[in-house]
Amino acid sequence: MIEIRLHGRGGQGAVTANEILAEAAYYEGKYAQAIPMYGTERRGAPVTAFLRLDEVRVRERDLVHNPDIVVVLDPAIAQRPSILEGLKAGGLVIANYPHPPERFPLGGNFRVTTVDATAIALETLKRPITNTAILGAFSKVTGLVKVESIEKAILHRFPGTLGEMNVKAVRMAFERTPAPIQAVGGVKEKDEEGPLSGSGYGLIRSAAGWRTFRPVWNYEKCTGCRICWIFCPDNAIGWGEERPTVDYRKCKGCGICVNECPTKAVEFKREEI
Ligand code: SF4
Ligand code: SF4
Repeated sequence: MIEIRLHGRGGQGAVTANEILAEAAYYEGKYAQAIPMYGTERRGAPVTAFLRLDEVRVRERDLVHNPDIVVVLDPAIAQRPSILEGLKAGGLVIANYPHPPERFPLGGNFRVTTVDATAIALETLKRPITNTAILGAFSKVTGLVKVESIEKAILHRFPGTLGEMNVKAVRMAFERTPAPIQAVGGVKEKDEEGPLSGSGYGLIRSAAGWRTFRPVWNYEKCTGCRICWIFCPDNAIGWGEERPTVDYRKCKGCGICVNECPTKAVEFKREEI
């Protein structure tokens, strides 16, 4: 049996990726068990999902505690030591990360490969929904599920243009993902931000680490209507001298201000990693 753990954020589609992978395995005659686990119900909050694949019926009903493979959909989460929790010795990490595996920051007894799934998602879907791109990487480096089966499962779930765009993302990631290497990163310390599963991301913790994109204001276009200030769910937007100000320590990068601004005065810029 192969046990897999997926890490992502609310809105990136980790749970959907898990289900698509399970369906794709089923097409190939395998047994699959997909388990989602949510923390607080907030867009951007860490989400974990678990998958078991086997040639025989899966009888375990517990969460996956010692995965063979860890799949990470978010580049900020990919840098956190918590993703390695319980990973079997010699296990594999497949991460959405904008640099090659040689520059992956975490080290230890595991193999790693990386693909810039965010860039692929922006290119193909025009949105940073990285779940289908990362599946292309999974198929390429594990060979556990054929890319054709993943595409079939995607088209079953998203028929039409949306499905075709996602299939393109899968193909692109399949082509761009390099072979895994032994992890050479230096970071092995304890995760200061705590565990990735479960609660604890409410009012107490800052959500700034969730951000993949940051909102940037162009005051020449701003009319001072205060809509962004009203809509921000994390109270990250303040008001001063008749214009909005932002506290990036509170901003989780949800993009609501970008969507709601009637004059397009707020733009999203990708965070540098
Ligand atoms: S400032 Fe914008 S992107 Fe940041 S949390 Fe508020 S609404 Fe979301
Ligand atoms: S919603 Fe746009 S125009 Fe209105 S205050 Fe915010 S940035 Fe300015």
